[in-house]
Amino acid sequence: MELKYKRVLLKLSGEALMGESGYGIDVDTVNFIAREIKEVQELGVKVGIVVGGGNIFRGVSEASKSMDRVTADYMGMLATVINALALQDALENHGCATRVQTSIEMRQIAEPFIRRRAMRHLEKDRVVIFAAGTGNPYFTTDTAATLRSSEMNAEVVLKATKVDGIYDSDPKKNPCAVKYESINYLQVLNEGLKVMDSTAISMCMDNAMPIIVFNIYGKGNMKKIITGEKIGTIVEVDNA
Ligand code: UDP
Repeated sequence: MELKYKRVLLKLSGEALMGESGYGIDVDTVNFIAREIKEVQELGVKVGIVVGGGNIFRGVSEASKSMDRVTADYMGMLATVINALALQDALENHGCATRVQTSIEMRQIAEPFIRRRAMRHLEKDRVVIFAAGTGNPYFTTDTAATLRSSEMNAEVVLKATKVDGIYDSDPKKNPCAVKYESINYLQVLNEGLKVMDSTAISMCMDNAMPIIVFNIYGKGNMKKIITGEKIGTIVEVDNA
């Protein structure tokens, strides 16, 4: 089978693991996502994953309003580790060899992030889950995803969402909203489109790293992207 992408970084937000429930981890949803990932990994694609933590804790949330920002951010980073372990468990239940690496050391439960080691895992067809964001407060896991994507020489960031791409306005509020097939980084920044935070978008722009925004709940979507079908919206250097 002809593959368009052979090395990808999947960004999974914490909310993606939450499914329809309002908080935490939904087992059926995690299992569904694990199957989607396995399908791609079985094609021989090298898969790195950055998981978010928003389903458990966010540094800038209402609950942390009175907290020290840095402490709250560390709590958010720890939340991503819980999600990483849940995802690892589901992937391994589906027969997919997986390693978790964390940007904040916690050696009893995961490897520390070591780039060369991560590359080696990928060579051996293991899925590598990068947890604890960048390890620094004031960042997001979207920025961690763009950072790791460049570090692992990925060809694309697959940004998993609940919608099927980027629209010029909110499709839930505006029935006439139009979906972009492709868009450039500056357009995303200038129009304030909610794709990723501006740090993450600028970093992708500086490194010419394309981002595909797609609906993770659409069965087979990830595989379709890998085999070259036009799914979702691609953010890339403007070739026009
Ligand atoms: N976070 C951080 N530094 C990072 C990544 C994440 O401080 O490099 C914290 C931040 O508080 C963030 C929380 O971890 O709100 C959870 O990550 P994020 O909001 O990106 O998760 P997602 O929205 O993808 O579920």
